[in-house]
Amino acid sequence: MNKPEFGPSASKLLAPMIAGIQRTGASSETPTPQNFETHVVLMKGITWSRDSHGLFDYESRHLTKKTLKASYESMIMRSGNDLSLNRYNNLRSFQEQCDAKKQMPEDMAMLKIVNRNANTFYLESATYQPHATDIERNEQNGKTQESMYLVVRSLKVNNEKIDYEIQERDILKIGRVKFAVKEIGQLNKMEVDEQTKEEKGHSANSIYTDTNEEEFEEFIQVPAIMEDISAEDPDCKCRFCWASEANAENPLLGTCKCGGSVGRIHLGCLSAWLETRKQSKISTNFSTYFWKAFECEICKSAYPLMMKAQGNTYNLVKYEKPPGDYMVLESLSQEKNNSRIIHIIRPSAGKTVFKLGRGHESDLRINDISVSRCHTKIKFERGKFLLEDNQSKFGTLVLVKQRTPLLPGFNKAV
Ligand SMILES: [Zn+2]
Ligand SMILES: [Zn+2]
Repeated sequence: MNKPEFGPSASKLLAPMIAGIQRTGASSETPTPQNFETHVVLMKGITWSRDSHGLFDYESRHLTKKTLKASYESMIMRSGNDLSLNRYNNLRSFQEQCDAKKQMPEDMAMLKIVNRNANTFYLESATYQPHATDIERNEQNGKTQESMYLVVRSLKVNNEKIDYEIQERDILKIGRVKFAVKEIGQLNKMEVDEQTKEEKGHSANSIYTDTNEEEFEEFIQVPAIMEDISAEDPDCKCRFCWASEANAENPLLGTCKCGGSVGRIHLGCLSAWLETRKQSKISTNFSTYFWKAFECEICKSAYPLMMKAQGNTYNLVKYEKPPGDYMVLESLSQEKNNSRIIHIIRPSAGKTVFKLGRGHESDLRINDISVSRCHTKIKFERGKFLLEDNQSKFGTLVLVKQRTPLLPGFNKAV
């Protein structure tokens, strides 16, 4: 198995690839737009030939390294353990351009280097394929590319290591175990939002996203009744409380495969019932809520955390919003069982560091072979939640949904 990655460390998709940008012309103190007339993107690709749980092993010694320099929009192709830089035109189908460059059928494109949004460089995921031809091919064949992840331990600014600043809706990957950042509640949130008008060099994701964020949210679109229609349809009542009243705040939802007289449930009745099934482990700074079976008791369909109906969004899980700073993480289980786990991290003056790992002393224990004893730390500093990889064997990663910005002075690996 030849599985490459990019970076000094990496995720499962590529060869880890470290990238940074460098000026080609005379240096100047005043900020200038970054484009291929004045800058190049420098990269170091690392490929390895042994696959451990589909992950890059940071302790592995059998690596092939290659330095690449992009002075035009490019895509990086892998053939065996070799990497090559090829011209990329974003107006044309990405898959057709890859096919044209393939030497062997198993050759694949790893990522793209693009210059967008007012002269900013980005590493763009190979899974991001907005061209109509590619959308059609993906609908027919399913997505064949692997997702791209930012390698947290690779982040550097002016050669100094920095932590990753966690953003709402990030998908974190600890070894092979994934977590979704559902919500970040911050006392000084207004101030934080003000800053997001500019790309951040250490972010996994660009602030400019042109596809639907919903692709990364978990919800289902369900039929809903928002008024009492029992006069026309006597079956249209709640299977829990038998009442037929309904409105936009408390609609009668068709939430699962059940039909007929058991096909509808009030939003309020369903979330109250789920609340009774909830198991909690609550401490001052860290709470976990667990549902063994987040599903319909009759047809066993799993409930998502969120449902959408007629343009409204309904959250099935209610958790108390702590008054201060907090972060809500959901464990995304690998097995397709119907359990749910939600964690709420609440830092305080006496507790600002939270350990994630397989060890007993972890605040969030992750029982998986790909997870180190103390794998990752989530730290709360100056009003921000930061992620620090603790030299774990398989790394701490953040999903790059479309593209990750490369700003002057910053280095990152994917
Ligand atoms: Zn009801
Ligand atoms: Zn059902």
